[in-house]
Parts: sequence; structure tokens; C-alpha cells
Amino acid sequence: MPAEIPPQSQDHQPGVEKLMRPLAEHIRPDYRGSGKLAGRKALISGGDSGIGRAAALHFAREGADVAILYLEEHEDAKETVRLIEAEGRKGLAIAGDVASGPVCDDAVAQTVKAFGGLDILVNNAGVQYVSDDLTKISDEEWRRHMDVNINGYFYLTRAALPHLDAGSAIICTSSVNAFAGNKSLVAYTTTKGAEMGFTRALALQLAEKGIRVNAVAPGPVWTPLQPASWGPVDPQAVADLGKDTPMGRCGDPCELGPAYVYLASQDSSYVTGQTLHVNGGMIING
Ligand code: NAD
Ligand code: MG
Repeated sequence: MPAEIPPQSQDHQPGVEKLMRPLAEHIRPDYRGSGKLAGRKALISGGDSGIGRAAALHFAREGADVAILYLEEHEDAKETVRLIEAEGRKGLAIAGDVASGPVCDDAVAQTVKAFGGLDILVNNAGVQYVSDDLTKISDEEWRRHMDVNINGYFYLTRAALPHLDAGSAIICTSSVNAFAGNKSLVAYTTTKGAEMGFTRALALQLAEKGIRVNAVAPGPVWTPLQPASWGPVDPQAVADLGKDTPMGRCGDPCELGPAYVYLASQDSSYVTGQTLHVNGGMIING
């Protein structure tokens, strides 16, 4: 659980880990791996920081090699690879924009070349720009949400699928906002709802191939996305993150990682097209 969060802002998106006060925790020191992902090979978009880094470190502790695709936060990516390697696994950092099909093709090719295959894809890279007024959203801002949050999930999945065999898993990071809505995040919420549709339809398409597709719908989590998106609009909103949830606090990334392990591993072998709600107790439909 994060300590008290002071008001703060990061003036650039994607945000970075080192500017966060307090720093986030991505895996608990007492999380014990038990080989649930032994020998598996994973690719995680946005795996350099936040929820993606939590998934990466939990996968590595469970025995997987992990590649991360990220936009430009080289320092965060380097640190994540260092932490993956400290678990005794292979790590690979790939910088590139998921809004480009060829970049996604190349990221998958690099992963397959480095690890000798691919079994787990986590679509997680995302942007979020705050606006209380739909009439103030520019074409560029609207399209950037779609290009990264929806098209990026499509491009990376299309590139990965030829390499995935029966027993493989795809996990999409959606959001509680897809279910509850958010009046200041219409563009973002639209993309998170689309990701749910993507998850459910693709799960049906791939069920007979033995490839499972599920989603995680996080509530408020202490990641660089928060100070970088809410901060410039209202630094106090960052400090208040999660206070309106039943648990009265936001989550730390380390509280999300185990959900990704569950959906990536054979523990969830009879689960597809579903959503795990890791959100501090908000009760929502679906
Ligand atoms: P984060 O900033 O740590 O991660 C987002 C990552 O996306 C960045 O690390 C960045 O490298 C990557 N990214 C952004 N644009 C990209 C692009 N064009 N190409 C490649 N990579 C790009 O923040 P996070 O909160 O861990 O976000 C991860 C996911 O979780 C996002 O999909 C977000 O919508 C979702 N989510 C977050 C919360 C939360 O409260 N933090 C809640 C619900 C859902
Ligand atoms: Mg990042």
C-alpha cells in the first residue's frame, strides 16, 4: 500500500518512476515464485513502469523471460530489465511506438529471436489525457487515445498471434472506467471500453485454438500515469487518488502483479473472455 501521496505533477507523458513521491512498489519482497511460468516467454507493452513493470517482475519471479516494449523512458526500461535479470531470467527492452504496426511487428520479431518463441502477450501501454469538456478535445488528442490504446492492442496482438500456440495467454489492461465511466476521461474511457470488446470477441475467436484472452480492469493505482495525466490539471487530485474507493486508498503496482500471473498461467486454464477487477472494492457489473 503506498504511503501518503503529496500533491504533485509531472509535466510530460509518459511519466517516469523516479519523480514519484513516494516511489511505487512493483513486487513485494516476500512474493514467492513457484515456477508457474517456468520456461515461458512474455512480451509486455508499457512494461517499463507501473502496472506493466509489476507484471514483468512477477512473471520473471515465476520463471518467465520477459520483453518490454515502451515509448521512450529508457531509464525505467533499463531498471526493469535489471530487475528481471536479478530474478535469473532474460530481459529485453524495446523502444518504439505501439501506434505503429511495423513497430509492433518488429517488437514481436525481436522477442521471438531473443527468447526462441512467445507464449504470453500483455497489452498494457496506454495514454490518458484529462478533459472536463468534450468540446475542448482536439482531433489530435482524441486520435492519440485511439492510436495507442486501441490500435496498439490490435497491432501487437496481430503480430504476436502467429507465434502463439495452445496454452498461450493474452492479457489486456483495461480500466474500472470502462465499467463505471469517468466524466473527465471520455476519450480514455472510450478506448478502455473498446479494449473490453476486443478481449471478449478475441477470446471467442481463439477459444478453439486453446489460446485464452482475458482482461484486468484496475482501479486507481500509483503509477507514473497518475502524476503525468492528472498532475498538470490538478496536483491535489493526485494526492486524493483512490480516496473515493471502498478501501479509501489507491493500489500499489505490487497489488496488481499476481492477477497477471493468474491469467498468464495454467491456474486460469478454464478462464477466457473474463475480467479481473483489482480496484479496492468498487462493485461494478461485468
Ligand atoms: P505507466 O505510465 O507506468 O505505463 C504506461 C506505459 O505505456 C508507459 O510506461 C509507456 O512506456 C507506455 N506507452 C505509452 N504510450 C506508448 C506508445 N505510444 N508506445 C509504446 N508504449 C507507450 O502507467 P500505468 O498506470 O501502469 O499504465 C498501464 C496501463 O494501466 C494503461 O493501459 C492504463 O490505462 C491502465 N490503467 C492504469 C490505472 C492506474 O490507476 N494507474 C488504472 C486503470 C488502468
Ligand atoms: Mg513508463
